[in-house]
Amino acid sequence: MTEAQDSVPDAAALRARAAETHVVVVGGGVSGMVAALECAKVGMRVTLLEAAERLGGAIRTADVGGLTLDVGAESYATRGGSVRALIAELGLADRVVVPAGGRAWLAGIPGVGAAPMPAGGVLGIPENPFAPEVRRVIGWSGSWRAYLDRLRPVLTIGHEHSLGALVRSRMGRAVLERLVAPVVQGVYSAEPDTIDVDAAAPGLNAALTRVGSLSGAVAVLRGERDPALAPGSAVEGLVGGMRSLVDALHARLVGLGVDIRTGARVDGLSAAYGANDRPGWSVTVLEDAPENRDAAAPAIAADAVIVATEETVARALLAPAVPSLAPQPDHEPPVVDVVTLVLDTPALDAAPRGSGVLTVPGSHRAKALTHASAKWAWVGEAARAASAHRHVVRVSFGSQGEPPATEDLDEAAAIDLAREQAAQLLGVDLSARDVVAGHIERYAQSQPASVIGRAARVAAVRTQVHAVPGLAVVGAWIAGTGLAQVVPDARDEAERTRAQLLWG
Ligand SMILES: Cc1cc2nc3c(=O)[nH]c(=O)nc-3n(C[C@H](O)[C@H](O)[C@H](O)COP(=O)(O)OP(=O)(O)OC[C@H]3O[C@@H](n4cnc5c(N)ncnc54)[C@H](O)[C@@H]3O)c2cc1C
Repeated sequence: MTEAQDSVPDAAALRARAAETHVVVVGGGVSGMVAALECAKVGMRVTLLEAAERLGGAIRTADVGGLTLDVGAESYATRGGSVRALIAELGLADRVVVPAGGRAWLAGIPGVGAAPMPAGGVLGIPENPFAPEVRRVIGWSGSWRAYLDRLRPVLTIGHEHSLGALVRSRMGRAVLERLVAPVVQGVYSAEPDTIDVDAAAPGLNAALTRVGSLSGAVAVLRGERDPALAPGSAVEGLVGGMRSLVDALHARLVGLGVDIRTGARVDGLSAAYGANDRPGWSVTVLEDAPENRDAAAPAIAADAVIVATEETVARALLAPAVPSLAPQPDHEPPVVDVVTLVLDTPALDAAPRGSGVLTVPGSHRAKALTHASAKWAWVGEAARAASAHRHVVRVSFGSQGEPPATEDLDEAAAIDLAREQAAQLLGVDLSARDVVAGHIERYAQSQPASVIGRAARVAAVRTQVHAVPGLAVVGAWIAGTGLAQVVPDARDEAERTRAQLLWG
């Protein structure tokens, strides 16, 4: 046997090494749960610490008017296939469903009101500015202005980074404000001017240079791409809601012997000797839950820590080890309020606005609406089982730089505002009597990964964290918002941590 072969540990030695390795995951949202799963799978000892009383983070359900409903994430993008692969691994493949309920609508179009969102397009940028459904939204003058795109020369040196600037210069304000801004607000809770074209629509700039127009580039992208890869395209959900994913992950983690502690808020990390007298970490926990509370609880010793919280907490926890990550005092994550309404009215039986409504920014106090019982068959069936004309509608408020209109309202007033906005957005009368129940949930969102400069900033964070052995960071703030980004990133980072601990 050569010296090199001699130094490669065999499977039994690796298993033994894994079993004596302790990984602490901070944060029990989907990123933390996936990271915990990947480490536990190879036999590592894993402790998952979650500050709240329940796992799941932004995947949440609530009982609203007797229906168990998603009140946070309600779907996942199919692109990349990793969420679907996780779902299959957890035995949930037979619960996968696609949304129904027809196309979304646009509301708040000046001089028009509401109209169906034109089909096709990339981030709302139309392939054909004269298509009747596009013209209905932007008018003849908007279509002619957008057509200029085909006549104007393209930049020969460099390209435009800002999505807003690109669309404005090539197709004009009507396309930007009435088609692109509602989509960007709905997907990223941000303004198009702040969004990086290359991050939000990879390949668009290159196609523009090749074919000489933005609408042509959209056509190329839509034709060339697997629809499942197109930005903002195919999504799927789970019967029973995305909560099923959290419940299945939870069960799998329990099965693998992961020590799951809820009501356990991590307060600090410091370099120390780990579980086996190897360099590692000391994790300080404030036990919130009465059953876990133990004033004398010692700090937890870990060989590796995976931080899976939202950005502000992650920066504060990581800063002692990575000083450049000190919290950013001026960083205000966008706050989004989601109000779920259970309504009883025949006026919604025909789903007057399909699966939901996006708004032209500035036109309404709400940002978007989902007619959940029209969009998801399982929600519709559950609602109708309770009462013939029962419906579920989600109304969201707030975006980057604009606090939610519900910010200072109590729950009853927020529900009433959501009802009034839903009536406007759906184009029906909705009285307070039609509201069976309502529920409000507040989220601090991370800045979208597609914001200009963000990709470089988070890449720098990753590099700095990777330079510290036994430390990893996962979650939407670093991977990008959306389960299709969060899940594969958490898996990859856990694999990196595993390899470092077992082979490093
Ligand atoms: C309203 C809303 C709707 C969405 N809809 C969709 C959708 O339809 N499709 C989609 O793909 N994505 C959607 N998303 C995005 C998606 O939900 C998130 O990208 C994803 O769930 C983030 O997971 P995470 O693990 O990174 O973070 P989180 O889910 O935020 O989890 C972080 C966890 O860390 C915990 N924590 C914080 N501080 C501490 C501490 N000190 N100690 C211990 N634990 C701590 C928190 O309590 C939380 O549970 C939506 C997001 C929101 C807010």
